[in-house]
Amino acid sequence: MKERINTGQFIKDTAKKLGFDGCGIASPKVLEKDIAYYNKWISDRKHGNIAYLEKNISQKADPTKILKNTKSVIALVQSYNPDVKQNTEAHYKIAKYALGNDYHVVMKNKANLLIATLQKKIKNAEFKVFVDSNSILEKAWAARCGLGWIGKNTLLINKELGSYVFICIILTDLDLNYDELHEDHCGNCNACMVTCPANAIESPHQLNASKCLAYLTIEDKSTEVAEGKGKTKGWIYGCDICQDICPWNNVIPATTETGFVPNPALLKLTKKDFLNLDEKTFEKLFKNSAIKRIGFAKLKSNIEKA
Ligand code: SF4
Ligand code: SF4
Repeated sequence: MKERINTGQFIKDTAKKLGFDGCGIASPKVLEKDIAYYNKWISDRKHGNIAYLEKNISQKADPTKILKNTKSVIALVQSYNPDVKQNTEAHYKIAKYALGNDYHVVMKNKANLLIATLQKKIKNAEFKVFVDSNSILEKAWAARCGLGWIGKNTLLINKELGSYVFICIILTDLDLNYDELHEDHCGNCNACMVTCPANAIESPHQLNASKCLAYLTIEDKSTEVAEGKGKTKGWIYGCDICQDICPWNNVIPATTETGFVPNPALLKLTKKDFLNLDEKTFEKLFKNSAIKRIGFAKLKSNIEKA
């Protein structure tokens, strides 16, 4: 067995130095409750037509199925909370997380930098990084690592950072000290459930993704405009309503990650700019954004439908 060192603290200090907002560590013990919930969610078809969510199920709650000798799960969080908003004349709304650079790239680069820094000090350790990868239950692992709780809107909420956070999970064969679980602080609140315009949060922690505006604008591949016109209430990429209403997002710091600072060119767009958007401008404007992943035709149809 590798030496049990207070490497956990070293990892947390290094993560902090690199600008991560939070770092927690958990045992790789299988997430029994979370995977039971996930399996039922899939069998109830609450994931709509997102076929990739049906893959890799056996490994999602059991990291040893990915990295055989996993001894610890490390979770990192990074706030993307912007301190500026879209133009009031924009009319069409984009989820906050997509206003800056693509989080897959930013978070992965940062995690790889963390690992490279750790490897200078800790020899022969194995690390495996996940950012929105569909390989593991990232929110559940972040909660197990003590970085927050899963709110009734099914998102990770951190007491200091709120829920506008990206998550990165790292599996390692290092034997580290584990953090305590975080209490659930939703209490009697149900603001997200009653405010969701699509009634997608059907009961606490039960999201029907196929009704969710984020699903309709990102995952649903249909570009048929006649279908569902007006359904997305002005949202053309994602939706923030159940987060904007959450009291835990009332007083939270703005992101300190420059990669997540909203693109000023995007913030400036008016309703007319969106309506006149052509493919060339799309490519230029969304070059570094997660929005480019859905492609021009889908964004255009979202605009026409919204
Ligand atoms: S993202 Fe929007 S549509 Fe989806 S659950 Fe939240 S409020 Fe409802
Ligand atoms: S709005 Fe209320 S119920 Fe929903 S996640 Fe936030 S605290 Fe929990």
